[in-house]
Amino acid sequence: MAKRKIAVIGIGKISQDQHLPVIDKSKDFVLAATVSTRGIGHGDVPVFRTPAELFSAMPEIKLVSVCTPPGVRHGMVREALDAGCDVLMEKPPTPTISELDDLVAYAKKKKRVLFQTWHSQYNAAVDQAKKLLKKDGVQSVRIDWRESVRKWHPGQDWVWEPGGFGVCDPGINALSIFSKIMPFPVFVESARLKFPSNRQTPVDVEIVFKSEQPHKPAMTAGFNWLETQGEIWTISIETQKGDQLKLEKGGTVLRVNGVVKVEKPSEEYEGIYERFAELLKKKKSEVDGAPLRLVADAFLLGARENVEEFHW
Ligand code: NAP
Repeated sequence: MAKRKIAVIGIGKISQDQHLPVIDKSKDFVLAATVSTRGIGHGDVPVFRTPAELFSAMPEIKLVSVCTPPGVRHGMVREALDAGCDVLMEKPPTPTISELDDLVAYAKKKKRVLFQTWHSQYNAAVDQAKKLLKKDGVQSVRIDWRESVRKWHPGQDWVWEPGGFGVCDPGINALSIFSKIMPFPVFVESARLKFPSNRQTPVDVEIVFKSEQPHKPAMTAGFNWLETQGEIWTISIETQKGDQLKLEKGGTVLRVNGVVKVEKPSEEYEGIYERFAELLKKKKSEVDGAPLRLVADAFLLGARENVEEFHW
């Protein structure tokens, strides 16, 4: 089958690190255009300044990946659906649940495929952990998600603006694994959010979760954005059977009682585009709102603390 033509909207860090190279080597997709306010292209494909210019000049484009910050995504995705496109959205989908719900309903109304990506979910170790927890139950969970904002979001001021998520931008990746692997529903019980006194989003977050499980598993998460000793992207779980599971390196490694059971190189974006091709074939949308709801609940319930100013 001929490759499907796709345009990428927003040519920032993640488009350049992942989307464009992965599309370049994809058997299912071929890059047909970019949309970039700064005029950034890729290879020799046409570059447009706005989605409207793309849809007007190349009406044959019926697929887009929207890789902007979440704040502008709702309008852009609606515009793409109006232009008859199927749409892949980077994470986090939108800054509010209402906007995400609207996009799901609007895609359905327009009979288009809407695909919400959560890249951390695309790991064999995550799938294996899910299987084990379904079988062996959960006694406790501790999530530690620490990285350097200066390394992963260099100079990106949008992360510090309202709706920019702050440290919950990476933290939501942990929650996308957590909500995928848990064998029962989880809720935020309380949260503590530390905001740099000159910024609008948190730099450090602690969350306590609860469930309706009679044995009351202890479940907590800590996100920090000022880690200078490399990344710590770990989820430690004790099963009811007594095993110690550890998902490490962002969900790419699974250890059980200290022994590595799954370790595969990260091919998250390859997995995302393979899944998108399947969904397009089936004409089926896939939107998992659980990670966004957990983050929203942490903000709704969170106690605020002001801490030291943040400067790049
Ligand atoms: P980024 O480097 O700031 O890139 C976002 C791009 O979107 C900008 O370069 C710009 O591209 C476009 N854009 C920004 N504001 C816009 C606006 N108001 N209107 C239209 N276009 C706008 O951010 P990023 O790190 O790539 O993150 C983008 C999304 O990917 C976020 O949701 C983030 O959570 C997610 N993500 C990031 C990473 C990472 O490692 N950084 C990893 C996974 C997922 P043009 O200049 O080309 O218009």
